[in-house]
Amino acid sequence: APALIPVQTHGIAPEEVSYAGRKVCTVLQEAGFQAFVVGGAVRDLLAGQTPKDFDVATSATPEEVRQLFRRARIIGRRFKIVHVMIGGEMIEVSTFRAMIDAEDAEKDEHGRILRDNEYGSQEEDALRRDFTVNALYYDPTTQNIIDYHHGVADLQQKTLRMIGDPKVRYREDPVRMLRAVRLAAKLGLAIDPAARRPIREMAELMDNVPAARLFDEMLKLLLSGHAVKCLTQLREEGLHHGLLPLLDVILEQPMGERFVWLSLENTDERVSEGKPVSPGFLFATLLWHEVLVAWEARKARDEHAHPALFAAMDEVLATQGEKLAITRRIAGDIKDIWALQPRFEKRAGKAPFRLLEQPRYRAGWDFLRLRALSGEIDMALVDWWDTFAHAGGNQREGMLTAPT
Ligand code: ATP
Ligand code: MG
Repeated sequence: APALIPVQTHGIAPEEVSYAGRKVCTVLQEAGFQAFVVGGAVRDLLAGQTPKDFDVATSATPEEVRQLFRRARIIGRRFKIVHVMIGGEMIEVSTFRAMIDAEDAEKDEHGRILRDNEYGSQEEDALRRDFTVNALYYDPTTQNIIDYHHGVADLQQKTLRMIGDPKVRYREDPVRMLRAVRLAAKLGLAIDPAARRPIREMAELMDNVPAARLFDEMLKLLLSGHAVKCLTQLREEGLHHGLLPLLDVILEQPMGERFVWLSLENTDERVSEGKPVSPGFLFATLLWHEVLVAWEARKARDEHAHPALFAAMDEVLATQGEKLAITRRIAGDIKDIWALQPRFEKRAGKAPFRLLEQPRYRAGWDFLRLRALSGEIDMALVDWWDTFAHAGGNQREGMLTAPT
């Protein structure tokens, strides 16, 4: 039987769950179903962090959930879940699911599970989750936490422990390796040795994960606010080799190393201050030195600088795209920022005025500044643009250099 952990022990107040999260649970419970706040939100509250969002797990089927709420939509084809909107907040409601028996599950030739959407009991739902700290169910009505796998104790002992045999669980879903590193860094937990050890030898399984899913997961890691810590840990454990070309780029390029880490620090700082971060800007920094190398190689082969830059950009994005499906919109943002860089060097004639009017000027300038901070270019250029941007018309004319 699962442990029932009362409020006196865990200390979470119902008000720490959003109004919408509580409301979804009580409506479902009053209709006779079981309903709990589950997963990351319970874990984060216990760890004293503010959850990003609240997910609910219930014994009701998606159809039953939908009928209980005015603004509810069933989404997903394989795993049907319900999005319930209450007061501008979206709650994701999922029906208790069981992992299909290992032999029956539909898997790829490497053992990765392709389909596991059979409804099940709460106990089965807990068993299919990845880490013990992610398998906690909080009932805002009774204020109890239901804990099937000693997740509360593991959290207190600062351990990230896999439910079941880590090797089997990584084979089912290799993305769990990245989740382990990200969650450990975010919560300040040590990955249990049994879950840490196999990562190195199983890293190559990452090859079979669809590129779109890897991109989502990398984005989560990089925008977690703990990117520096996540990547340091990946490097220390030697886990990045061959995991993803992007990680090799981040962690193994002596030239761009300072630039990349400055950018990651900058990103973590913005996240912790609640400022928006642009994935395009971040990826542009991570891959910039790859672009420089490819660009130089092309110029050395006598290609013209301008088309060579665009060809180098496409080349770098295509290489990454094989493993990581960078969305088209983000790829567009990345290229915009890169393409602006040579334009900062033109300080004569009409060109500087046109550059200032570019919608991406500010992102381009921030990028330029990071390049200077990393020692790639002279800070004087950055300062020149800062002065130019804030100067009046007459002063601007006087700043221009003689046309070359
Ligand atoms: P975050 O803080 O990033 O939201 P999270 O743990 O809530 O972290 P989600 O992707 O929102 O991550 O997943 C919600 C829950 O679903 C998890 O807490 C976990 O119980 C379960 N889960 C998510 N991904 C997996 C996975 N790959 N394998 C097993 N269970 C998973
Ligand atoms: Mg979550």
